[in-house]
Amino acid sequence: MIKEKGILFILSGPSGVGKGTVRKALFEKDTELKYSISMTTRQMRQGEQEGIDYFYRSKDEFESMIENNQLLEFAQYVGNYYGTPRDYVEETLESGKDVFLEIEVQGALQVKKNFPEGVFIFLFPPSLDELKNRIVNRGTETEELVKNRLLAAREEIEMMDAYDYVVVNDKIETAVKKVQAIVQSEHCKRQRVAKQYKKILEADLG
Ligand code: 5GP
Repeated sequence: MIKEKGILFILSGPSGVGKGTVRKALFEKDTELKYSISMTTRQMRQGEQEGIDYFYRSKDEFESMIENNQLLEFAQYVGNYYGTPRDYVEETLESGKDVFLEIEVQGALQVKKNFPEGVFIFLFPPSLDELKNRIVNRGTETEELVKNRLLAAREEIEMMDAYDYVVVNDKIETAVKKVQAIVQSEHCKRQRVAKQYKKILEADLG
C-alpha cells in the first residue's frame, strides 16, 4: 500500500469576512480534514477554550517558538501574534491526512512560499458594507480596534492574486459546500491521481 502525502488547504481572506465561522461550520460536518490549531498571544474570548480554539501563549513563549523555527508561519495582527505550529502540520501531512489552516493573509503568503503545492482559498465578503457591519456588530472590540480591522481588511482584499480559489461568503452553508467541493476536486486532480497510479504500477512491476 502506497501512502500519499495529505494536501494542505489554506483558508484565508480579509478581516471580518467570516473565516472562523466558515471553518467552524465546516468542521461541524463530518470532514476528513485535520484542523491545525493556531497559537496566539491574544486574550481568550468568552466561550473559547485552550487547545480547541487556540493555544494561548505569552509573548515570550511565542517569540521563543519563532526563534526555534517551530512555526510554519506567523503574523502580527492587531497587536497580537498568531502562528501555525510546524510539527503538527508536517507530521499530519506525512501521515497522509489533509490539513486545514484558517489564517490571515500575511501568514497565508508565507505558507505560499514554503508550500507552493498547498491549495489556497480566498474567502471574499459579499460587499465592504456587509464586512463593516459584521465587524461592528461583533461587539467584542473597541472602536479603535474596529477601525484597525477595517483598514487591514481593505488592504487584504487586494491580495487575492496569490490564491487558487475564491469563495464568496454570502451564506455560510453555501461557502462551506464550496470549500468541500474544492477539497473533493483537488483529490480528483489528474496530476495527483496519475502520480498515485504510476507509483502503484511501478511498485507492482517490482
Ligand atoms: P481572532 O483574533 O479573531 O481569533 O483572529 C484574528 C485573525 O487571525 C483571523 O483572521 C484569523 O484567521 C487569524 N489567525 C488565526 N490563527 C492564525 C495563525 O496561526 N496564523 C495567522 N497568520 N493568522 C491566524
